[in-house]
Amino acid sequence: MSTNNNEKHVKVLVLGAGPAGLSAALYAARAELEPVVLTGMQLGGQAALTHTIENYPGFPTGVGGPELGELFQKQAENFGAKVEFGMAYEVDLSKRPYKVTSDNGEYLADTLILTTGANPTHLNIPGEVELTGRGVSYCATCDGWFFKDKKVVIVGGGDSALEEGLFITRYASSVTVIHRRDEFRASSVLQKRAKEHPKMNFILDTVVTEVIGSDKVTTLKLRNVKTAVESTFDTDGFFVFIGHVPNTQMFKGQLEMSDLGYVIINDKMETNIPGVYAAGEIADPHFRQVITSAGMGAAAAIQATRFLEAESA
Ligand code: NAP
Repeated sequence: MSTNNNEKHVKVLVLGAGPAGLSAALYAARAELEPVVLTGMQLGGQAALTHTIENYPGFPTGVGGPELGELFQKQAENFGAKVEFGMAYEVDLSKRPYKVTSDNGEYLADTLILTTGANPTHLNIPGEVELTGRGVSYCATCDGWFFKDKKVVIVGGGDSALEEGLFITRYASSVTVIHRRDEFRASSVLQKRAKEHPKMNFILDTVVTEVIGSDKVTTLKLRNVKTAVESTFDTDGFFVFIGHVPNTQMFKGQLEMSDLGYVIINDKMETNIPGVYAAGEIADPHFRQVITSAGMGAAAAIQATRFLEAESA
């Protein structure tokens, strides 16, 4: 449904095209609601930046992150979902239909499913911003290849740090994980794999305080948190995997959010505004899996369908 060339009126508008958004689109399309997905930056979401996904059911030998995103997209489109490329930058939730302004024009939406995901957290230390793209990275799949036969350091002690570290061992000559505690948060399976890998080394109880290099990373400044002893460590690459920040800036002041900025939803994926749902990592600080995000997306679309049906009954 369209009102004019610059303003499209849709029954279901999905913001974001990761596992949550594309699953929501599949379910809404099968309910014949002709959903539109406004992709944002990354088709496939963060999953598309993961080399291999080994824990999404149905793929016993794993599936490539980008490939899984394409399969999600195709399946949703097969049932009539429209995937449109563009970034939303303003949302007006004060009245229905809800207005979304994007670089692809304006949308009026009877219901909205918000799945804008999360971005990697930065360390905020000197040199980090200046050397991003010159040795500092937040994406192993994107940048791992650049460190063939080179030394790489990873910061973090969660699943992402160890999983991405193991991935980078394909290219790098060594991968040193620097973690601020002496215990990892990552699952025991990943810890075992990482500790047994001949290319992986660990520096514990230590934080990186500065990234040094003129036009590319050469050295890190470190501080042992127990002894306060400072030291340096030479490296070619520096990957940061210390968690994520939800992309919810656009909804501030309109939607209820937690102190950490996650959208608050109930068990039906409903936000505090009727007809506005949130799914995936913008509303989930706990699980952050492809399967949980996809499930939340499906649930949001089922709820949006019920909402629209109740209205037209
Ligand atoms: P996470 O579990 O929150 O771990 C973040 C890590 O970064 C922690 O070890 C934390 O240290 C460290 N950290 C945080 N801020 C830091 C700082 N300023 N300086 C130094 N270190 C800092 O994040 P994640 O690894 O991205 O994982 C997020 C979620 O996704 C988790 O639920 C995880 O299970 C899931 N995930 C699952 C898989 C999988 O199943 N294959 C893969 C990736 C992610 P502390 O431990 O000291 O707090």
